[in-house]
Amino acid sequence: MRVADLFKIRERGVSFEFFPPKTVLGENGFKQTVNDLKHYNPLYVSVTYGAGGSTQERTVNTLKWIKEKTDLTVMSHLTCIGSTRDGIDNILKDYMANNIDNILALRGDPPKNVTDFDLTKGEFVYAKDLVEFVACYNYFSIAVAVYPEGHFESPSIEKDMEFTKMKIAAGAEFGITQMFFDNRYYYDFMDRAQKIGITVPILPGIMPITDCGKIEEFASFCNATIPQEIKKKMEPFLTRPEEMEKIGIEYAIRQCEDLIRNGVKYLHFYTMNKSGPSSSIIDSISI
Ligand code: FAD
Repeated sequence: MRVADLFKIRERGVSFEFFPPKTVLGENGFKQTVNDLKHYNPLYVSVTYGAGGSTQERTVNTLKWIKEKTDLTVMSHLTCIGSTRDGIDNILKDYMANNIDNILALRGDPPKNVTDFDLTKGEFVYAKDLVEFVACYNYFSIAVAVYPEGHFESPSIEKDMEFTKMKIAAGAEFGITQMFFDNRYYYDFMDRAQKIGITVPILPGIMPITDCGKIEEFASFCNATIPQEIKKKMEPFLTRPEEMEKIGIEYAIRQCEDLIRNGVKYLHFYTMNKSGPSSSIIDSISI
């Protein structure tokens, strides 16, 4: 079912993001995670897509497995830089044939091993171009990525918001935020979005911090600030992962409770293919 239609009939809910597993071990863990999380009756579950199509086959197979083995609504992430219109057309037709009708339309990042990659030379330059392309099929519900702290390449937070508005005007029906750990970034983003006339649902992306070192590296790449409070709390436990996880989950519970108190109705969880942290959080909040 199209996620945009689900918003009309589901007042509240959660969604889960997975990545396509690489190994047999990873696959078994992923399948267990999907089975563990499905009883939360998620609005949808999404599967990431490697930039430049690097995980195309695994992403498609993962989506097909979920569709075959569960009755969950699925959404495919899809990146466009380095792709051709024909290539994207093939993927979209395959999705239509398999009743996969939700797409998170993304630009993606240039390949790390190519230093002189010219973003402007491809058939798609920005996510907006992909949104326009996907919208032409009149079949998919389209989501886009949004950035409470601004995208790292953006000249300013205001420009970033203008570009976000353009993606939505091109046909996106909802947004999902980059992870953030201080809700003020989300509330400020929503204020700016409202002022510029963005009215579609914007789902906050929740990433439970389970390993301070790893998340810090990832968060700096994503332009997401880790609050000093959580760093200080985790510092004494850097060699004790279960303690760090406990602290991260407690923090995310308070973060989600605050979002819900402030009117948020849908939460998107970055699961990292693990069910434990998301389950502990959802069991402790009322969404
Ligand atoms: P865009 O919206 O195209 O923006 C890219 C940059 O260009 C921004 O700085 C923007 O401000 C600027 N810009 C946009 N339009 C214009 C314009 N008209 N003129 C000038 N500048 C402009 N990556 C993956 O590879 N696979 C995934 O599965 C994946 N999933 C993600 C899920 C979520 C929820 C999020 C938040 C991100 C995800 N990403 C994923 C990361 C994403 O691909 C990167 O953040 C990428 O750098 C930008 O993608 P975008 O779709 O936001 O790009």
